[in-house]
Amino acid sequence: MSSMKRYEFWFITGSQHLYGPETLKAVAEHSQIIAKGLNESGVIPCSVIFKPIVTTPDEITKIIKEANYDEKCAGIITWMHTFSPSKMWINGLSVLEKPYCHFHTQFNRTIPNEGIDMDFMNLNQSAHGDREHGFIGTRMRIPRKVVVGYWEDEDVQEKIGNWMRSAVGVLVSRNLKVMRFGDNMRQVAVTEGDKVAAQIKLGWQVNTTAVGDLVKEINAVAEEQVDSLLKEYEENYQMATDNIAAIRYQAKTELAIKKMLEEAGCGAYTNTFEDLHGMEQLPGLASQRLMEAGYGYGGEGDWKVSAMTHIMKQMAEGLEGGTAFMEDYTYDLTKGNELSLGAHMLEVCPTLAADKPRIEVHPLGIGGKADPARLVFEGHPGKAIVASLVDMGGRFRLIVQDVEAVKPIYDMPNLPVARVMWKAKPDLKTGAECWILAGGAHHTVFSYSLTAEHMQDFAEMMDIEYIHIGKDTTIEGLKQLLFLQDISWKLK
Ligand code: MN
Repeated sequence: MSSMKRYEFWFITGSQHLYGPETLKAVAEHSQIIAKGLNESGVIPCSVIFKPIVTTPDEITKIIKEANYDEKCAGIITWMHTFSPSKMWINGLSVLEKPYCHFHTQFNRTIPNEGIDMDFMNLNQSAHGDREHGFIGTRMRIPRKVVVGYWEDEDVQEKIGNWMRSAVGVLVSRNLKVMRFGDNMRQVAVTEGDKVAAQIKLGWQVNTTAVGDLVKEINAVAEEQVDSLLKEYEENYQMATDNIAAIRYQAKTELAIKKMLEEAGCGAYTNTFEDLHGMEQLPGLASQRLMEAGYGYGGEGDWKVSAMTHIMKQMAEGLEGGTAFMEDYTYDLTKGNELSLGAHMLEVCPTLAADKPRIEVHPLGIGGKADPARLVFEGHPGKAIVASLVDMGGRFRLIVQDVEAVKPIYDMPNLPVARVMWKAKPDLKTGAECWILAGGAHHTVFSYSLTAEHMQDFAEMMDIEYIHIGKDTTIEGLKQLLFLQDISWKLK
């Protein structure tokens, strides 16, 4: 069983007493069948929990309060098989704190030509009841996903499954702690941000830890622990260096950071090459390994990208492809085939690798420390997104761009870091102009596994601004959108 199954989504069917007990019994039976069908579908990653149907304002409020307080519950899915007057839902929905999906489906796929009479119509009237339910969500301005279609159709189930992943991101976000070793890189603007606003809006607890405490932990790691971690490295990567001492130091660093993250309950961390007092190397292999294990990481003190890396990794759990901290580094501007080359000083997550990564040791131009060990590899081809969260002052903006990763067109034998090459949508020139106009950072989360829709749903549920740059984006359209969103977000 996938570990995504630990997240529960409560399937809540609304009705009323007008129809009598027999109809309500049928409503409950049909809801159970749908919940079971969704649960057994191969495309829905989380658990769907059938809840007894709700028919009064008190029942509705009670179940929503229970959903709020249940730690396993990552969201609710509502469906109105019959007509459930929506004023009954106001008190409940006004206290709803969990992600909300309105599933507009129907128990029967087709209208039974001979079988349809008024009893049938009264039982199978979601076309009617779900409109009443939709109105109250809109009237109350509640962010929610509306999924329309027959519950046995795979594309419909997939839509619910995708939304569930975004809802899991919300739960992870609200519980996330980020450990910072050192501050933001001096003078850098885009990696800065309001940590109090981030905690209020996104739930992140972002706090600092002394680098000296990490050094103490690194020095305390037992050599036997390092020996067994080195065996793991040998199994998973190609050893392309004789400098085993450098690798052992990264192994110690990995174990020390992991211990501190576990003890503090942190899912993400940052560091900066400007504050490595007492450390022999900038963590390279160590950070790559921790990202591979699911931790978020941000270089140069970038806690926003670190948090987003962890959240997006959790959202993508069990999917093919890989999700990683990334940085736009350099371009190939060959006319008609313009490409971006992404990498970082050291820290690119090996979940992106096309082949077995190599462990190499090379000097690092900045930071003034010993030559760090790192994993070197190429990213694989495929559709992907890059996502960047920036602080606009008074609000956060999430910018997502569709990209198409390609096999790097050069070998680049002297480039000592992992690299990924991609074509930005709609094309590099338009895409980069839009990205820069939107204020997107050089640091991003790169994901083969997630789509822009996952991120849009996440942004809506977190109530943050969202900008998407895709195949149909134009500069004129984007400028208008930025202008209108700027006004509307200031009014919010
Ligand atoms: Mn960087």
